[in-house]
Amino acid sequence: AKGQRGESCCCYEEGMDAAARRRRLLAGDLRQAIARGELHLLYQPQRSLRSGKLSGYEALLRWQHPRLGFIPPDEFIPIAEESGSIFAIGEWVLEEACREAQRWPGGEKVAVNLSAVQFSKPDLVATIHGILAETGLSPRRLELEITETAIIEDKLRALHCLRQMKAMGIGVAIDDFGTGYSSLDTLHSFPFDKIKIDKSFLLLSDTSAQARAIIRAVLALGKSLAIPVLAEGVETEAQLRILENEGCDEAQGYYFGRPGGPPSHPHSDLTQKTA
Ligand code: C2E
Ligand code: CA
Ligand code: CA
Ligand code: CA
Repeated sequence: AKGQRGESCCCYEEGMDAAARRRRLLAGDLRQAIARGELHLLYQPQRSLRSGKLSGYEALLRWQHPRLGFIPPDEFIPIAEESGSIFAIGEWVLEEACREAQRWPGGEKVAVNLSAVQFSKPDLVATIHGILAETGLSPRRLELEITETAIIEDKLRALHCLRQMKAMGIGVAIDDFGTGYSSLDTLHSFPFDKIKIDKSFLLLSDTSAQARAIIRAVLALGKSLAIPVLAEGVETEAQLRILENEGCDEAQGYYFGRPGGPPSHPHSDLTQKTA
């Protein structure tokens, strides 16, 4: 407790130190992670529920630390954002994903996550333009996934960015929808091509009528704004049935496939379990 001196206070501070030390270490090691070949992407399928066809893959970043092993992106992405490595890493991800998607015979879309911090850099759109030119990927096959945090800080600039991306033919999806900020206002003011319902609602949908009501509401919202909705985190057939009954457009989750090796790789199933 505050103001108390004693053992619990000491342990607490030591605990903080260990966490801070780990963050500092990871921040330093992240700077070399690209050059040392420690980063790779996995791809998770996205399925159209109308046609039953594969519509795309989301690229998900993985970091294999030489000593500490696998570090989850939920841990290292915030560190990369804080330390500035996210710019180099974000560019690497974009280039790698576009290059990989170029090899897919089915011509599916590739969805790439953009950090809110990447949005703060004035040359983001030019960088993406350059990567598309270099890899030769059609902009129509690239979809950028952004969260509301990315647009909340400087709305005018974010709107300008999104418009430029759309003018190039790139799709923009709003990620983790339903969590965080004033979602309704954002949807109304920004030209999104897709809404991704946050996986937390799907995971709760088996037991919570409230979660199911929220899913229904988001689907109705998408319909009235003519924006397709993708549900992420679909793990069971029961969850899929809810989505089909409610007219959801697309779905993604362990039920359809875990993040796995590049789809162009002949032995990609071998890595399906490494998510
Ligand atoms: P996200 O963008 O919301 O990605 C979806 C996360 O849900 C992924 O976790 C994915 O593996 C997981 N997932 C997919 N299907 C299911 C399911 O059926 N059940 C459950 N429980 N989980 C499922 P992952 O790969 O650990 O990534 C976590 C987060 O890290 C991502 O959340 C995203 O915010 C961030 N991230 C990952 N790759 C990148 C990247 O290249 N750039 C940036 N900026 N962020 C990334
Ligand atoms: Ca995402
Ligand atoms: Ca998400
Ligand atoms: Ca997320």
